Amino acid sequence: MKIHVDRSRCVGAGQCALTAPALFDQGDDDGLVEVLDAEPDGTQAAAAALAAQVCPSGTITLSR
Ligand code: SF4
Repeated sequence: MKIHVDRSRCVGAGQCALTAPALFDQGDDDGLVEVLDAEPDGTQAAAAALAAQVCPSGTITLSR
């Protein structure tokens, strides 16, 4: 699985980093999403899918 983020959509809500802290963080300066691991598998892939669901702005998309 590959994680894609459109940072222009991110509103800094932080739900991704709360849901999947191994995969997402927020920038110190702007609070916008930063991807820590763009190609998760196993349980982290499931966490990525959940993070994409909870993101309120549709910033996170996934592909195979
Ligand atoms: S949950 Fe979505 S809007 Fe919030 S920081 Fe993460 S990517 Fe950005």
